[in-house]
Amino acid sequence: MGLPIAREVVESIAVQNEVCIRPVPLRRIDTHTGASEIIDVPCGATLEAKCPSCAKRNRHLRVAQCREGWHLTEEPAITPGPADDYQTHLIEQRADFQAARDQAARDGHDTADIDLAIVELDEEINAAGVRGNVIGSPVTKRARSTRRRQDAPDLPKRTMARTTLGRVFRSPHGKVFRPSMFLTLTLPSYGKVKDGVPVDPDRYDYTAAARDALHFSKLVDRFVQNLRRVAGFDVQYFATVEPQKRLAPHLHMAIRGTLPRAELRQIVAATYHQVWWPPLDTVRFEASHLPVWEDGAGYLDPDTGEVLPTWDEALDQLDRDPDAEPVHVVRFGQQLDLQGVLAGTKDADQCIRYLSKYLTKSLGRIPDPDHEGQRRHAERLGEAVRLEPCSASCANWLRYGVQPKNAKPGMTPGRCTAKAHRPEHLGYAGRRVLVSRKWSNKTLTEHKQDRRTWAMQALGIPEDPADPHRYTWRPIPNGDANLPPISVRLLRAVHERQRWRNHMTELQTRADDQDPSATQGMAA
Ligand SMILES: [Zn+2]
Ligand SMILES: [Zn+2]
Repeated sequence: MGLPIAREVVESIAVQNEVCIRPVPLRRIDTHTGASEIIDVPCGATLEAKCPSCAKRNRHLRVAQCREGWHLTEEPAITPGPADDYQTHLIEQRADFQAARDQAARDGHDTADIDLAIVELDEEINAAGVRGNVIGSPVTKRARSTRRRQDAPDLPKRTMARTTLGRVFRSPHGKVFRPSMFLTLTLPSYGKVKDGVPVDPDRYDYTAAARDALHFSKLVDRFVQNLRRVAGFDVQYFATVEPQKRLAPHLHMAIRGTLPRAELRQIVAATYHQVWWPPLDTVRFEASHLPVWEDGAGYLDPDTGEVLPTWDEALDQLDRDPDAEPVHVVRFGQQLDLQGVLAGTKDADQCIRYLSKYLTKSLGRIPDPDHEGQRRHAERLGEAVRLEPCSASCANWLRYGVQPKNAKPGMTPGRCTAKAHRPEHLGYAGRRVLVSRKWSNKTLTEHKQDRRTWAMQALGIPEDPADPHRYTWRPIPNGDANLPPISVRLLRAVHERQRWRNHMTELQTRADDQDPSATQGMAA
């Protein structure tokens, strides 16, 4: 281990062994014994995986989670479990961040970086299986005028039955069927495409494509609301958002239970989301002709020195305008793929594989990187996304002469750092996997826990009687002398992994000699 080995070589060995190559080192202190040790937490343990090993492992977990919930026969029991040690650590960290942010704000310092970190940490906390917002939003939601409310879609409404399970059908011979559904929803056409590339790029509606991608998650939320309203039961789903070849997001959704096809078509057709934002039709400022910041006043028109309307003022103006229209309306496209699926069939397996097929790929991934047309298409879409406002606080509002929400100095249109604008997201910054709360009995963390418990038992290591406060976790400062170099840590992890695998194989062989059916799939 002392020999110098190129980092890349070590990484590729680690990936071959499915070891995380971007681990987050944390110091774990055992409050019972006072002992402390450095633990490498895999990057994909909570957040979206950043390394191929974690991406692969998370994909397997998602497959397990999808399979488990799709054809449940009993209502899932939902009881929030005690916070595990990692969750506790994250929440403590969240509290520290909040304190630092409040201090920075009191001192009049820029809080943009720390705000971003807090948003990411909140995502991480949710991903770790803690539901809801930890600290709660400090800002109260603005009351919306009736004009800006979403119009209710024209759909039948049934009384809600208190069940999450679909209907059961029985054949005359007493066989029980529990049909479920798999559907794929796409966005509309923005112009003819061939091989993922617009036939006429100048006539392809990149603005609409960008706006649809930016608001896609809202559209999906509306779809679920409408679905439940019409179905008359608490419909549960497991869905993934994946890129099409033309780089528009689309949705695959496994639904527990079934609805008549005609009704589903009706719901898809009637679902839309209206974006009530200030108008986007005139670009007032761009390039070097940009609003200027003045302390105490905000952003000013560079020509007249007039203070630009704040976000709230712009919304008030919208409320007062009787002719105001939503700035954008997102709907699904005509293309709808729908199939009925029975539990435990080949079809069900096929759908689950399909659901998770591209989970490890980014939304902005160009299908064929050597394809000049596809590269150009991705660039054009990326450019459109770069200039669209992604949220109320996006710097791009300055192009339209509106001060972004929480405006601060140094905002430049086209340079908003929010995730949505990044080339790998191309407008869609939402979660890639959407699982309804009562899909299975478990969160992803609990699915992970299953595997861990199983491995510990298989290894003959007694499980710690659940004391969620036994360990406390501390971040390790940069350059800490106790932290071995990454290559050394990776090699150790590879060694551990191999040892574990050998042990598993041995156990399996031994058990197979006694009872071949007992250990099927154990080394998975
Ligand atoms: Zn990783
Ligand atoms: Zn933005």
